[in-house]
Parts: sequence; C-alpha cells; structure tokens
Amino acid sequence: MVSEPAHSKWVAVKANIATREGPTNCGSAFLADYTSPFDATVVDRLKQHGYRIGLKTNMDEFGMGSFGLHSAFGSVTNPALDATAQPRVAGGSSSGSAAVVAAGQVPLALGSDTGGSVRVPAAFCGIVGYKPSYGRLSRWGLVSYASSFDCVGVLASSVDQAEAAMQVMQGHDSRDETSLNVDWAAQEAQDTPVRRVGVIQEAVIHELAPAMHDRWELALQQLAQQHCLEIDTVSVPTLKQALAAYYMLVSAEAASNLSRYNGLCYGAQSGAPETFDGFFDMYSSNRTQYLGDSVKQRIMTGNHILSRGKFDSYYLTAARVRAQLTLELQRVFERVDVLVLPTTADVAPTIEAARNIEPVQEYATDVYTVPFSLAGLPAISVPCGRDPQSSAPMGLQVVAPRQLDHRAAHVARLLEAMSWPN
Ligand code: GLN
Repeated sequence: MVSEPAHSKWVAVKANIATREGPTNCGSAFLADYTSPFDATVVDRLKQHGYRIGLKTNMDEFGMGSFGLHSAFGSVTNPALDATAQPRVAGGSSSGSAAVVAAGQVPLALGSDTGGSVRVPAAFCGIVGYKPSYGRLSRWGLVSYASSFDCVGVLASSVDQAEAAMQVMQGHDSRDETSLNVDWAAQEAQDTPVRRVGVIQEAVIHELAPAMHDRWELALQQLAQQHCLEIDTVSVPTLKQALAAYYMLVSAEAASNLSRYNGLCYGAQSGAPETFDGFFDMYSSNRTQYLGDSVKQRIMTGNHILSRGKFDSYYLTAARVRAQLTLELQRVFERVDVLVLPTTADVAPTIEAARNIEPVQEYATDVYTVPFSLAGLPAISVPCGRDPQSSAPMGLQVVAPRQLDHRAAHVARLLEAMSWPN
C-alpha cells in the first residue's frame, strides 16, 4: 500500500458521481437542482480513509463528449497552457476533474471513463489518468451512461497518488454485482515481472501527429535501453473497427439508461403536469427542453440501432466486434506483458477549432482509448512532455491484461520517471 501524507487528501469529484455535498448534476440542465442524498461507494470509501471532498467538477453532459464543451454549465478551458496561448479544450468528459488537478487546486480527482473520459483529458492537461479494469471499482452511485463500459477512474499528478486512491476504493460491493471480488495484492505478488512491451501495428494511423509518433518511439527506445524491456510488434486486426463498434454500443446502452430522465421519474419539469396533453407530450417537452444536442444525438442513434430490423445489423455486429477484439487482445497478451501507445493521436485542439468540429470527428478523438474500454482492460495515461510547436501536453497510454492493473501502473511509473523534450 502506498502511503500518502495527510495534507494531500483533498479530492475533487466529477458531477456524475453521487456525493452528499455539492451538485450531482451530470453537466445536465435536467439535473440542475439535483443533490444526492447518499455518497457513491467510491466516495464513501475515500471518506473512510480520511479523504475529503473539496470540489464537484464540470463535465460533458452525462459523460458524452471528448472536449468538455457539452455541459449545460459552460465549457472548461485547459489550464496547462499559459494565458497568452490560444485557449485549448481540457478534454472530456471528465474536463473539470482534469483541469482542477492540472491547475494544482487539488492533488486528486475522480472521473469516469466509459471510452476514454479519464485518459483523454489527462493527456490533454498533462496529468495522470488511471482507468482500472472494469469492475475493480464499484459503480454504485456513478450515474449510468453505458453500464457495460462505465468505470470510475482517477486523475492525479502522479501514478502513486492515483494508485493509493484506487487501493482504498477497490473491492467488491454488494450494491454493484459487476464489481469484482479479487485479491488485488495477491494478483500483484503472484505476477511475473514485466519483460515485453507490445506495439500494435494497426495503431500507426495516418491521423497520428508526427510529434506524437516521435514521442511514442522515444518512449519505446527508453524502455528498451534504460529498463532492458523487449519491444515486440503485435497485430490486432479488429482495432480498426473498435471506434464504430464502441459508438454503436454506448449509444444503445445510453438510449436505455437515459430513458428515466423524463421529468416524472427523474429530472426537471418544463411545466405543471396538467398543462400537458398526456404523458407523451410531457416526456417529449421535458426532454426537448432539458437535454443537450449531443445527448439527443446519442439517444436517437441508440434507439435506431435497437429498433427492429436494425438490431441484428448494427447492435449484434458491434457486439461481435467487441468479442473479437477482446479475444485478439487476450492473444496478444500471451506474447507481451503490456501495450504502450499514444493516448490521443494529437494534442488538445483549440476551443475555437473544437467548436466547429463535426460530431464524428469529435468521436475520433477516442480512437486509442475505446478499444481497451470495449475489452474492459486497465489503462493509464501518463504525460510525456509537450508538443514542440504548440506547447500543449502529450500523453502515452499503458495497457495491461484484465485484473493486472499493477502492470500498467509499473510501466506508467517508468514512463513518468523519464525526461521528455518540451
Ligand atoms: N468521448 C467518449 C464518448 O462520448 C467517451 C466518454 C466517456 O468515457 N465517458 O462516449
């Protein structure tokens, strides 16, 4: 167990994780006035270990977004760049959690990562973003987006700090039957040392910025030279279908999960019930008024995918891609111990550029993070210096087999200790 000095125990919590103090509004106008009567299991466990909730943080509505621009409560600016530079996005959807850690306001923040929402903002803001194996942390009290993907994750200034919080929060929770009952310390004690690092050949895509590619190569070179690790090229052919499959599956899950926000079960009401012409009218006017555009897009896509006649060709195909990808990654881990790749293909875009990006281009920001969410694997993003041109931070991702989170943490620490060009 990594011990922490008492003064560093302030923690910020993303607005989709239930806390008795502060808002749990999920970045949505629908839940603007909502405060939770209970703490999420992860929050409860942190409190029991002396952590204190310092802030609740802004986010893309219900976790849907990659830039931090889709919140009913305003957008988040990346604090890692100086005030003279053009403002850049902080990344999403845990935009506020990344920003408060990067700005030094708190050493630690909780976020949620469905397809990259902890890792992407961490990379864009120059801090550590740790997504554990699916099920390591309880989801009880985390507002659902896509339940078979959702993970609570940690944003921190160091891997040690993130790992210390993970250890306090982990463990089975009877209120979340997908939470794992694993002896994490024994997993680590029984494991063999990391020797082989895998490089997925399909991850070399034309969208990868040259500066990011150079940084990736430098990392591999240093891992080989300084730590005598073997670097192996591996193939994961289904990686290319991951992004499309991810967005189909999460939209389908989101359409079901978000159907509860209708103003009757949950959420604000746009008028007194008697002013509506029946339930349908009431639901549709509440949802039209209070849900943001990106959430509406997901719900419409999701319901389309789930509709009769489309289910087989979209949903089941995407589910098959998920199964195939998981299998290919499992096989790769018979040959290598961890994977190292960029967290994002490029640095954070300027806010102006990001506002004009098509939704599909925004989705593509997650090209390197969603494959491991589909497979439920642990993945940690660590900073690797700044882009020489824009000075924006860059991040590399370390991925390990399911339940071997400590391996990812180990290699993440090696990267963290390296010196990077700025
Ligand atoms: N950007 C991705 C999405 O919108 C990931 C979001 C997340 O991990 N919560 O689905």
